[in-house]
Amino acid sequence: MDEITLSLNLADTESAEEPKERIIDRELIIIGGGPAGLTAAIYGGRAQLKPLVLLGQAFGGQAATSNEMENYPGFADGINGMALAESIAKQAIKFGAELVYEVVTEIDETVYPYIVRTYGATYRTKAIILCTGAAPRKLGVPGESQFIGRGVSFCATCDGYFYRDRPIVVVGGGDSAIDEGLYLTRFASKVTVVHRRDTLRANALLQQRAFANPKMEFVWDSEVEEVLGDDTVTGIRVRNNKTDETQVIPADGIFVYIGFRPNVALIDGKLELTPDGYILTDKRQRTTLPGIYAAGDVQDPNFRQTVIAAGTGAAAAMEAERFIAEQQYQAEEKAAQAATTQNTVSPEHLQ
Ligand code: NAP
Repeated sequence: MDEITLSLNLADTESAEEPKERIIDRELIIIGGGPAGLTAAIYGGRAQLKPLVLLGQAFGGQAATSNEMENYPGFADGINGMALAESIAKQAIKFGAELVYEVVTEIDETVYPYIVRTYGATYRTKAIILCTGAAPRKLGVPGESQFIGRGVSFCATCDGYFYRDRPIVVVGGGDSAIDEGLYLTRFASKVTVVHRRDTLRANALLQQRAFANPKMEFVWDSEVEEVLGDDTVTGIRVRNNKTDETQVIPADGIFVYIGFRPNVALIDGKLELTPDGYILTDKRQRTTLPGIYAAGDVQDPNFRQTVIAAGTGAAAAMEAERFIAEQQYQAEEKAAQAATTQNTVSPEHLQ
């Protein structure tokens, strides 16, 4: 897909009735404070748009939970995810971006300029960049929700340290499961990877490292049936999907890495999504509404890489800048035409 047809007639909505609440005007609003949003803020700031970044409750996005990133360009010795996010934020602030911890409750796309509401304020903006990221998928088995924070985790960097010399289970067979599983071997006495097939999806290098690590074990063709525990997790029950046999794997921690779900609740029904639920964008980060862009994991089912999130954030901000300039140009043209019409002497005036 190269281009998306812009479906909103801006001229029709410009005359829409003004909402009554106090409204703060901003040229560009960026929703989300991960690498995509923060990079968009650098580019928006350098374009003199004074972007407002609505961070939500947390700063840095998923990247900030990564203990060490080895593949972000420019950091040959790796960099801590939070340190990287802070550095990008500093750069954005230097160029005039404003970062606030506000949670967006609503985007009103039926008027233009668009309205963005948070718990504390109402903003009117010419362009929006959605960088709301993705959240970990859950297994949906008994015990999983009950033991979140008491043995079930979705973040090895956040919780791995609590499992020093204790057995851990990682569920999943993709890059995340194996990457985070390897990280967990630093702390755990043993990391058992439970995967529903007999081959991993993770890339070859990760597989090589995992198979060579004496602390890693694999339970193949197995699906989790239940997370077991009393006050805290004691293990999981899995069923082999070839033999139908069940077994209990004792573990103090269960780390679930079975993919991610894009955070699209804010725009549900307002923008077109891909069949797997991500925001549909074209190669220029445009969504199906003019002036609304998406960047990072919320529109990327394939890569989930910080460098790609940052790149799409930059592209979205460059597009937003062009769009805002075009709106400005059209408004000035309209004003000039109106002034010419007013000053023109009509034949009736001469009689
Ligand atoms: P992913 O590649 O979609 O892998 C998800 C894994 O979970 C798959 O092995 C899948 O099994 C399994 N799974 C899905 N639903 C399940 C269920 N209900 N029960 C049990 N298992 C289930 O997700 P990801 O590992 O989070 O990676 C997402 C993207 O980020 C990928 O593009 C990846 O390359 C990238 N990433 C890269 C790195 C890195 O390069 N270091 C690190 C993290 C993420 P099947 O294999 O049977 O489908």
